[in-house]
Amino acid sequence: MSVWATGLLLAEPGPVVTQSSQPVRNLIWVIGDGLGPELAGFWMQGVRQGALSGYPQKKSALEQLFDSGSQGIFFTDTATTVVTDSAAAATQMASGKRSVPGYIGLDAQGRSVPTLLEIAKQHGKAVGIISDTYVTDATPAGFTAHTTSRRQKMEIARQQLALEPEVILGGGLKYFSTGENKDLLKQARRQGYQTVFDKKALQKVRGGKVLGLFDKKAMPMSVEMPFHSKLPSLALQTQKALEVLDASVNGFVLLVEAGKIDWAAHENDMGATLAEMRVLDQVLDVVRTYADTHPGTLLYLNADHDTGLGSFTYRVLNPQEALSRSEQGEVLYDGDTSYASFDTYRLLEKQRYSLYALRQKLNTYPAEKRTRQRLEKEFSQALGYPLDMSSFQNLQDIPGLFVQLNRQYGIVWATQTHSSSLLLSVAYGPQQQLFKGVYHNTDILSKIKKAFGWGEN
Ligand SMILES: [Zn+2]
Repeated sequence: MSVWATGLLLAEPGPVVTQSSQPVRNLIWVIGDGLGPELAGFWMQGVRQGALSGYPQKKSALEQLFDSGSQGIFFTDTATTVVTDSAAAATQMASGKRSVPGYIGLDAQGRSVPTLLEIAKQHGKAVGIISDTYVTDATPAGFTAHTTSRRQKMEIARQQLALEPEVILGGGLKYFSTGENKDLLKQARRQGYQTVFDKKALQKVRGGKVLGLFDKKAMPMSVEMPFHSKLPSLALQTQKALEVLDASVNGFVLLVEAGKIDWAAHENDMGATLAEMRVLDQVLDVVRTYADTHPGTLLYLNADHDTGLGSFTYRVLNPQEALSRSEQGEVLYDGDTSYASFDTYRLLEKQRYSLYALRQKLNTYPAEKRTRQRLEKEFSQALGYPLDMSSFQNLQDIPGLFVQLNRQYGIVWATQTHSSSLLLSVAYGPQQQLFKGVYHNTDILSKIKKAFGWGEN
């Protein structure tokens, strides 16, 4: 069949305008900080098996997005390192240039490089940043500032206001209201920002520019959010940002960081990680609904790096015996193993305080007070169910206790830092096919430029 004939066939019964061929007007980019493939799988699997509350259909928003979007896998190595940090990752994603860990908005030679949000502004887009850590954190900073260190949060805050995004929401009030930046809120109001500091005030915002800072430092860990009813959830912040940005004449770019997946994973705290994954899922619900009702909206979800390589495993109950039965290095683990069960999700879901908070509390105890009885009480309170610690050893070694707790769950973590794991991405909406395949995080910006039709530079 000739190409011409094929064209005719495709044209029948009339041109079909698919969602994927529409021009892109808005981009909503959600970054799961530390969201490695293991954690994405951990979340989706729990929902699929009905082991988690709130999902009677057994479908997470995360799974639905992967199921209907264009999937990609990508790598994150920097100019000098195999493993990245959030600063270099954000910089590379935002600028398309290789950088080095710690740098914000600079290439590997230390030169300032234009970021996606700056470029978007030049094209007349409204822009917004949201982070449930602090808005000056490495991930949003890499899109909005240029400094030689991610730690220069005061400088980052000033540069963010100079860029003037229509929406800045998250934690980090301290960097806009103390020390050398003690007048920054005043300046923001002169620039036309409404400044809001709690959920109620945020809900009242109807339009215009908004600077919302809901905690002095980072927002609380999601597992502890029930104790902070005056704070807006990340989903609510996202919802509000979309309401505000929706009014923009030329469309918008919104960056949302679910930043505490990383923090929970650094602590190797699977219960807290689960709570952060739920928050991410709620955000995805909000942005998916927006995209489905606002043609021209492209969603992109990815991660900046993996944290921890956390996963379920099975446990050999008698390693010596298993080894004695091995043949030529093939270890036969039949019969004497314990497999993680889906009930574990139900336990993890009960957790009320992060292990970080528990560790801080236990650290204040003098050694003689760290009795088993006392530890059981503290652990049970944090985990939300009675924990029997009779099989736990070395009660004075708190990090060791957390490892033993994970082992009881059948959970392993390879590290308390980042790994070089490949990452998953998914794009949904017009031009989603550009994000299909295997790529590097420095390729993302040119895909976005193409999607918007901006051309190179
Ligand atoms: Zn991290």
